[in-house]
Amino acid sequence: MNELIKRVIDLAIDIQQIPAPTFEEGKRAEFVCGMFISERLTDISVDELGNVFGRLKSKGRRKPLIVSAHMDTVFPRETNLDGRRAGGKVYGPGIGDNSIGVAALIGLNWMLREQNIHTGGDIWFVANVCEEGLGDLRGMKAVVDRFGADVHAYLVLEGLALGHIYHRAVGVKRYRVTARTSGGHSWSDYGKPSAVHELSKLVVGLASLDLPKEPRTTMNVGKISGGTSVNVIASEAKLDLDLRSEDEESLRELVDTAETLIQNANKPNVSVEAEVIGQRPPGEMSASHPLVMLAKDCLRKQGFDAGLISGSTDANVPLSRGYPAIVLGVTTGGSAHTTNEYINTAPVKQGMEQLVRFVERAW
Ligand SMILES: [Zn+2]
Repeated sequence: MNELIKRVIDLAIDIQQIPAPTFEEGKRAEFVCGMFISERLTDISVDELGNVFGRLKSKGRRKPLIVSAHMDTVFPRETNLDGRRAGGKVYGPGIGDNSIGVAALIGLNWMLREQNIHTGGDIWFVANVCEEGLGDLRGMKAVVDRFGADVHAYLVLEGLALGHIYHRAVGVKRYRVTARTSGGHSWSDYGKPSAVHELSKLVVGLASLDLPKEPRTTMNVGKISGGTSVNVIASEAKLDLDLRSEDEESLRELVDTAETLIQNANKPNVSVEAEVIGQRPPGEMSASHPLVMLAKDCLRKQGFDAGLISGSTDANVPLSRGYPAIVLGVTTGGSAHTTNEYINTAPVKQGMEQLVRFVERAW
């Protein structure tokens, strides 16, 4: 494996070792900022959310390309981040999603320099916060607020996405639903409403919905909690609900249905309230857009039959505002969002090569 690719993998491991749960990316941001400085990027800054920016200046006068990778992980601060190398793989929580993506920002700088590539415009490298969990893409929202339409395009790096091109953004709406009753004793107050029972009925209603496969539309109650003890009629219960669709209209329909079910769960002595805890608008860039075609070609040259797919990523933000945006991967791997997460090391070379060629020809 070539020296530079080894360095990208080593750097990914260094990044992976720094805890960065969503909303707590500070330490990792500091590290990336240091890397931007040693790469001699210009106009380096960290915004108030913790997004790190650095510019690679070009003699080319076209609008800049924004290349971003999210720093945050789904793993709580106390997670053991120990990793290991074994049989062409590197294991470690967050190694693929998205430490190798962040490392690729730096790797791109190395490769552009090594191959003496001049681009058609400046490249802004951005390591952003808040892509995962309840981050609600607020990091990327600030990035797109900053650059807006005044860009050539947005390129979002997702470590494990090699072989795929995301050009459509799945719309997402998330709620925290809370049921409240006056509660009581399980025996002496039997018959009084229970928040757990009422919320369970709502879950059954949601799980019974017949959602379209085309356009793909999904529902998940990902978390549920409530009650105080086995012999107490629960006075409070909560659930977190995630609704998604590739299509704006289908998402709106699902949202209406879910909100109606939630509304109808209210009855005498039972209050059910929903709070919106996340919103990612849908959007897309045509499959025939030159940048999609270019990405396909770059992947094909690395031996991948590129699959065009939709997803819920940082690219939702620019896509939903009508700006050109695409997601590309760095390598393959698996078990994302679990402590067994791993990357395959061999494809990193193809992934990086794909990215360099894409950036070189992007304008
Ligand atoms: Zn990710």
